[in-house]
Amino acid sequence: MTDKFSPSVRRILAERAGQRCSNPNCGRPTSGPSDNGAGGSTVLGKACHITAASDGGPRFDSSLTNEQRAHPNNGIWLCATCADRVDKNENVAMFPVELLRCWKEFHESLTGTDHASIQNRRVYPLRQLKIVDFAGVRGQANMTFGALTSVLGSSRLSHTVGELLNLFSSHEEFKRTRQPPSEAYEEEIDRISLPDERPWVVTVKHDPPRVFTNRGRVRLKLSDNREFIITAKRTGAALSLGDSPIPVFSPAISTIVVGKPLDSNSSPLKAPEQRLARYFGISDAELRSCIEGSPTDESVFGYEYDFNSEALLVRIGKSGYQSLDSLSGGERSRVLIDLGSRVARYRAKVGPIVFLVDQHRISIDRQGWAQMLNWLEQTRPPFQTVVDMWERPSQWSLARTLCYEVIGTDMEVSSFQITPLNL
Ligand SMILES: [Zn+2]
Repeated sequence: MTDKFSPSVRRILAERAGQRCSNPNCGRPTSGPSDNGAGGSTVLGKACHITAASDGGPRFDSSLTNEQRAHPNNGIWLCATCADRVDKNENVAMFPVELLRCWKEFHESLTGTDHASIQNRRVYPLRQLKIVDFAGVRGQANMTFGALTSVLGSSRLSHTVGELLNLFSSHEEFKRTRQPPSEAYEEEIDRISLPDERPWVVTVKHDPPRVFTNRGRVRLKLSDNREFIITAKRTGAALSLGDSPIPVFSPAISTIVVGKPLDSNSSPLKAPEQRLARYFGISDAELRSCIEGSPTDESVFGYEYDFNSEALLVRIGKSGYQSLDSLSGGERSRVLIDLGSRVARYRAKVGPIVFLVDQHRISIDRQGWAQMLNWLEQTRPPFQTVVDMWERPSQWSLARTLCYEVIGTDMEVSSFQITPLNL
């Protein structure tokens, strides 16, 4: 049922939404100039009921009182088009209560962040990623980021999101993306030339080579409204900040990436804590500060650490302290996530940071994933998190997470579709 709210409730909902549609795939303004040239304005938005105003309407909840049904908490602001789709009984399966609540909370958090001080905006630095004919994606795929966003799908496209964010954050990743892998590409240039007819190849360790198309565009919108764009043409690829070209490669975002294994082969002489520091791109002393400076209850998995002796020791459950090298692969992966979140919290003190977790490359069981995602949702840490997933955890309830499912066959297609996750 639409528009049975009082005028004051409608106004509150519209203003809380910043006069934009709350559907994250839409987001269009719901007010603007009237088109009759008379100098007036017009509102095309609607206040939609999350659960119906009366029996027989979509998502009716008999347990609510009439006051609760008429309260702003039971409303969501949408554009006329989205409202018409949401407000039909036959579409209830597509727009369940949980999804609408997720949209509303997410949209209000974005609006609140835009409305807030610049300092607050820095907590969630990523706003939107738009991929156009790039990296194997045909057509256009959009995704909007929240405090915690997960990209689901067995498709390699979901893996691509993490990889693209890596491109924006790491010179090394970008260099690896450049073609051809057989030629030296140490020199720093403003424009990368791409030989005709040759595809881009990403050579990621332990992964099959990735073939990127040699055209297309990726736009990354940040919460301070800056927009980084990678434009790839047959003749080369360029990076720009809005309309201005910038040197390749200027990192656009700072990330802490947990995904690649803690590789012991490449540096057999280094102690595990030194490898850890290098893994997160910080110094040994900084790693020590991160660990010693964080209260125990900030641990994702309830792990305890001891850095008093020379080596870093971990205490899991009720067992005694163990060295990192004595842990199983799964335990070591959990330690990486745990410490990654501490490093992200530490780095967030000086600048915005995105915590990227790549399920594709890290081995953790389903319970471990559910635990991590619930922790992120409940703790609301001072950094933004993006999780690339190809398998759903068996148990979680993520009311505040924006989950995207990748639609399509492997890299052939693409779009992201928001999906409610109350499994
Ligand atoms: Zn809309």
